[in-house]
Amino acid sequence: MKSIRFHQHGAPEVLKVEEVPDPSPRDGQVLLEIKAAGINHLDIWVRRGMPGLSIPLPRIPGADAAGVVREIGPGVDAVKVGQRVLLNPHTSCGVCEFCTGGDMSMCLRYAIWGEHVDGTYAERMVVPATSVIPIPDTLPFDQAAAAPLVFLTSWRMLMVRGRVRAGEDVLIHAAGAGVGTICVQLAKLAGARVIATASTDEKCGKAKALGADFAVNHAREDVVKRVREITGKRGVDVVVDYIGKETWGKSLLCLRRGGRLVTCGATSGYDPTEDLRHVFYRQIEIHGSTMGNNSDLSASLRCLFQGKVRPLIDAVLPLKDAAEAHRRIEARETFGKVVLLT
Ligand SMILES: [Zn+2]
Repeated sequence: MKSIRFHQHGAPEVLKVEEVPDPSPRDGQVLLEIKAAGINHLDIWVRRGMPGLSIPLPRIPGADAAGVVREIGPGVDAVKVGQRVLLNPHTSCGVCEFCTGGDMSMCLRYAIWGEHVDGTYAERMVVPATSVIPIPDTLPFDQAAAAPLVFLTSWRMLMVRGRVRAGEDVLIHAAGAGVGTICVQLAKLAGARVIATASTDEKCGKAKALGADFAVNHAREDVVKRVREITGKRGVDVVVDYIGKETWGKSLLCLRRGGRLVTCGATSGYDPTEDLRHVFYRQIEIHGSTMGNNSDLSASLRCLFQGKVRPLIDAVLPLKDAAEAHRRIEARETFGKVVLLT
């Protein structure tokens, strides 16, 4: 079968179309025929290489996929051949203190497809039967493949860690990122007032079309000043920051006293400078968040299946164009998700 693999870390060009052996399901597994694979920023970190994380090479990247179950292994009865499904993007040991306590994303053996094991940029994949989730017949494969990781991440960040409630003000940086487009919709669904930031007027317009009450062009406007104007100098209740170095200091200044800062990443750098006085004097809460638990995934996918939150797809490209897709995302040319079709 065809797959996209890389043999060394580096620029998008390291992603090569390669023929690999067809997998076949064993006990408790299913063979998933992948129709669409969603790209996440995580895939770019994995391709570039991350300090402290050793990734066995070669590697097939990709955490998100949707497709059809084509074969089932021995002992599988909850899943049927021909079923349309999406892939649960993570697995964990199931027996440690965190897993048994319902906090699988803290499991020491927590794994994401495409990072810790081969992923979804391929025509087929063998996964545990417990990792596929049936999707409605009316949900197209590209939308189903664009959803899981960003829905999971956004739900946990906003609803669980950030505890966003009706009537609160929420600032969402880089609303054009995959997670951003979902956070804007979820925060609105929760009844919050949303201030989004984006790098161009065009992206600001798209953020407002998604439901943001205000959109600030951070390339030419002072975000802190605008937030203070919009909130009558009070500041926002919650800031969602996955940009890191470029935005962290501003995020602290945008919060009200006792406000919550939630972070699930640092696309511009991990090492911001921070004035701790803003944290202790103003009693700011800082919440780390990564991926989420199966309960977070189920809750967020109900919003997808009911049509209340939709994945925003910027482009759909053939699998062979994975390198071009990565290039577009890294150049910040996209608003929403890029999906690969097999
Ligand atoms: Zn565990």
